[in-house]
This record gives sequence, structure tokens and C-alpha cells, in this order.
Amino acid sequence: MEVEITIDGKKIKAQKNENLLRVAKKNGIYIPSLCYYEKISPTGVCRLCLVKVENMRGLVPACATFVTDGMKVIANDEELFELRRDILDMLLSEHNADCIACDKNGSCELQDLAYRFGLELKNRKFRPLWHELELRRDESSYVLSFDSSKCVKCQRCIKACYEIQGKGVLSFAKRGMETYLVAGFGTWKDSECDACGECVQACPVGAIVEKPVFERVRAIDVEKKVETTCPYCGVGCQIELWVKEGKIVKVRGLDEKPNNGSLCVKGRFGFSFVHSEERLKSPLLREGNQFKEIGWDEAIRIFVERIKEIKEKYGPESIAVLASAKITNEENYLLQKFTRVVLGTNNIDHCARL
Ligand code: SF4
Ligand code: SF4
Ligand code: SF4
Repeated sequence: MEVEITIDGKKIKAQKNENLLRVAKKNGIYIPSLCYYEKISPTGVCRLCLVKVENMRGLVPACATFVTDGMKVIANDEELFELRRDILDMLLSEHNADCIACDKNGSCELQDLAYRFGLELKNRKFRPLWHELELRRDESSYVLSFDSSKCVKCQRCIKACYEIQGKGVLSFAKRGMETYLVAGFGTWKDSECDACGECVQACPVGAIVEKPVFERVRAIDVEKKVETTCPYCGVGCQIELWVKEGKIVKVRGLDEKPNNGSLCVKGRFGFSFVHSEERLKSPLLREGNQFKEIGWDEAIRIFVERIKEIKEKYGPESIAVLASAKITNEENYLLQKFTRVVLGTNNIDHCARL
């Protein structure tokens, strides 16, 4: 059901019970947020999206408020600006804002907010406290690293792991200032983590980051981003390759069908093979116990001759073809067509059933 609401004097049409923060964003009205993440249920813990709603007591988090007909909202005024600035200032007092050495430099939501709200070292109200808290680093995962001094306790990773990936590996330990993120009962390595990287993608800051494959890379070092399809299986997940000096250095899941940003461990982390020195770049011909590099024309000629020879001598049923999940659906279709029509056998199967 369509309703009409007013935000900062602007009349807006929305669907009843739509999330207020999303409605504001869709209509070009800025409300800051840190814990809000489109793909998970609203958490309402960062308090940056507090707004004033007529006839509602106190300030309410826009991310956890649902629109009703005639709702009148003040999303931005001087008082809200000062309040949000103070909240950010407090967050930064517990944050190791060492942006110079942080992988997230250039793609960090906290950095963007601090810049937008003009929070500089010289004008901060709250003294730095982060170094008084116990530093917890977890390097035990083979694909990601965690640094508690960068964590803003937004819960995006916890909910992404539970609500998107269906795992529930992450939770908070302790309370108050001492709260920290923990995987399983202690370390990532010993947890039930299946290394999908959903938490890495959800983290708005540099607390959970990918382990470097070749070298450490910040978002600002990335020279090119290429949108493509993951080559690992037939699902066709949409990915974005981050490229530096001609090498793939990170992979992000694109928020498009069929994966809506999610990836498996292979799609997100398994790309070092692309630049491997051991990668086969041309066909190899076996001669005794040795392999000899040959060109494609020669390889195809030898293949055709041998297949013809075998088919004539032993019949088409002596040949079997094994297709692969690593080639496209179209290529798999062509392969079964080739097997049935050209080779004359139904001996075609797929590696996924091995
Ligand atoms: S997480 Fe963000 S704000 Fe913190 S050090 Fe890294 S880039 Fe800076
Ligand atoms: S990598 Fe995936 S399974 Fe592991 S903690 Fe992160 S979201 Fe959960
Ligand atoms: S690790 Fe990142 S996503 Fe998880 S709670 Fe900390 S800041 Fe939020």
C-alpha cells in the first residue's frame, strides 16, 4: 500500500512499512549510517541514523523505523548534525585510525564519515582510548585477517555470516568497552568458517580484510575494476576483479543476480592461479614419460587423427567424454552435441558427479 510521508519538508511516496533509511536514500536524502547493510536485517546499534519523527518520543533510528502514512520526519538539522558528530567522535576514540597503514584506506565508511563531519585530530572532544583496550588479532584463517582495534562493533559481519551465509560463526565476547568479535570458540581456524568472505565484504572498516595474495593492496592502489562472470562453476556469479599492475589483487561479489554479492571461497579467494608460473599456457604432447609443448593447430590435428583411428578400430562406444563445471553452460552444451553427433556415442558425463 502506498503512503505519503514528509522528510525535511519534502513530500515522498513510499510503500507502507518500508524502511525509513532506505526511503530517504532512494529519494536523495542523506542520513549517515554505519551498521546498516541492505542485505541483512536492521541492527540499529551505531545510532548515526537517529532522526526526529513527529509524535514519537525521543530520537529514533531511521534504519529500524518503518514508514506510515502522514509520517513527518526531520532527518537533518543542526542538532542532529552535532549529535552524529559526537557519536562519531566517540567511535573514533575507541578506534585505531591508522589510515596510512590500513588496507581499507580509500574504501572505508568510517573514514568517509569522519571526513564528511570534519572530525580532525585537533578538533576531537574525546581522548583516544583504543590503545588502552586489549588488542586482539586473528591471523589463523587462511583467507582473512581480523584486527580488533579497527572494529566498530556494528555487527554487520555477524549478521552477514548468520543471515546470508547461514553459518553463525561470529559473535561478540565480553561486554561494554571490552566487547570484541570472536569466531567460533576462539580462533577462525578452529571455527566452522567456510571461508566464503561474506564478512569481509560486509565489514565497513578495515577490521576484517582479505589476506594478501601477492602483496598488500589498498583500494586506492587499484588501477582497474573489471566486471565479469566467475569461471569456477555453472552458476554464473557476477564478480568484480580489482587489478593492479596487470594482476588480479582482489575479487568482490557484485550485487547482481544470481549471487547478489555473495561468493564461495573459490570465487572470492581462488584467483592466484591466473598469474601462476606453473599454469599451462599451451598444449602438451606426451612422448614416453616426457611432455613436449606444441601449438594448438598441431594439438587439434593429432587429436582428430587419434579419435578417428580409435573410432574406426574399436567403435564409438569405446570413447567417453568428461565435461567440466569450469566451462560455460554453452560450452558444455556444445560438448554433449559433439559427443553425440560427431563421435556417435552417449558416453558423456560431468565432473560434478565424480
Ligand atoms: S578502518 Fe577506516 S578509519 Fe580505520 S584506519 Fe582503516 S581506513 Fe582508517
Ligand atoms: S568467511 Fe563466511 S563463514 Fe567464515 S566467518 Fe566470514 S561469513 Fe562466516
Ligand atoms: S569486524 Fe567489521 S563488520 Fe564485524 S563488527 Fe567489527 S566493524 Fe562491524
